[in-house]
Amino acid sequence: MTLIERFLKYVSFDTQSDDNSGVTPSTPKQMVFAQYLRSELEQLGFEEISLDENGYLFATLPANTDKPVPTIGFIAHMDTSPDMTGAGVTPRIVYGYDGSDIVLCEEENVVLSPNRFPELLDHKGEDLIVTNGKTLLGADDKAGIAEIITAMVYLKEHPEIKHGKIRVGFNPDEEIGLGAHKFDVEKFGCEWAYTMDGGEVGELEFENFNAASAKVVVKGRNVHPGYAKNKMINSMCVANQFMNLLPDGETPQCTENYEGFYHLVGITGEVEQTTLSYIIRDHDRAKFEARKENMLKWAAEINKKYGEETVTVELKDQYYNMREKIEPVMHIIDIAFKAMEEAGVTPKVKAIRGGTDGAQLSFKGLPCPNIFAGGLNFHGRYEFAPIQSLEKAMMVVVKISELVAR
Ligand SMILES: [Zn+2]
Repeated sequence: MTLIERFLKYVSFDTQSDDNSGVTPSTPKQMVFAQYLRSELEQLGFEEISLDENGYLFATLPANTDKPVPTIGFIAHMDTSPDMTGAGVTPRIVYGYDGSDIVLCEEENVVLSPNRFPELLDHKGEDLIVTNGKTLLGADDKAGIAEIITAMVYLKEHPEIKHGKIRVGFNPDEEIGLGAHKFDVEKFGCEWAYTMDGGEVGELEFENFNAASAKVVVKGRNVHPGYAKNKMINSMCVANQFMNLLPDGETPQCTENYEGFYHLVGITGEVEQTTLSYIIRDHDRAKFEARKENMLKWAAEINKKYGEETVTVELKDQYYNMREKIEPVMHIIDIAFKAMEEAGVTPKVKAIRGGTDGAQLSFKGLPCPNIFAGGLNFHGRYEFAPIQSLEKAMMVVVKISELVAR
């Protein structure tokens, strides 16, 4: 099977994960795909193949040199986003893309147009794998899986390329933020690893947000409105005062690059009680801590006016910036840089405005930067993947394997 044959086969599996399931994997269909991959790895002659009850599939490509070489890993996730169905994915290949609109679905008038997605024009002349306009594509992250497996097959077929022991790992439930939770880092047994889960060619990521949630509960005092003078405290109005204490412009819609924010993600309220749900994000750890402090400070300000216990803030850290775990091992970034250059790719270092499985793995003791997988417009019907990008990502995996042993 070629890289593209593999990719097209993998996207035919519906592996959508589910936020509300509470079990691992969150959907049984991910296990079906994991079992398929296991049998493929068996047929290809991989060693130390294991699939645990949580749907984590590991395998080994043994070293072909006696030289002491660190064991490294490549990781991709099997699930697709809960945002859009992944059932019945029917991809089509647009050969030699000419820069015009691509009609994905005639009857529903779904068009992939460079007017809305100018990044299409970066791929003029290439061959694009697109959807039928009714599902996502699933390049996130089946492109990563196809690239990793095909790269390992390439190494098997090219024994002149010397490499150390290489582990591959495929996990469920990345899209619901749980891909790393049950990842057995010790069993994986690598000095470091790379997730193949980025977008555009050249992307290399080893910084992400520090993240916390803040639940702000405002207590009111309800009294019959006809007799409420100087008695009633309307928690919704007090919550509004709290919201107004937050700085203007420090919201997702007003920030980019390394700017952090407070993001109000939900309100429920009545006179008696209002709950504001925030998420707090910042790449800088000190600024992140200061943002959390600010939430407490603003609550205290309101309480001064309305009495203690009017506003309570419950802060919960969610994940941290992997940069602090990568900095002591920067050679793993240097290797990725060099591998990209040797594969004819210009590295583009970008700070992730979100989290990754790699960040959590880094804090579990497996430093794990993220590398492009080549797909674009993830999580929706406009997702597409240039074949040439997938091929480059595959070669980056080969080159990294080679460079680690050089
Ligand atoms: Zn992904």
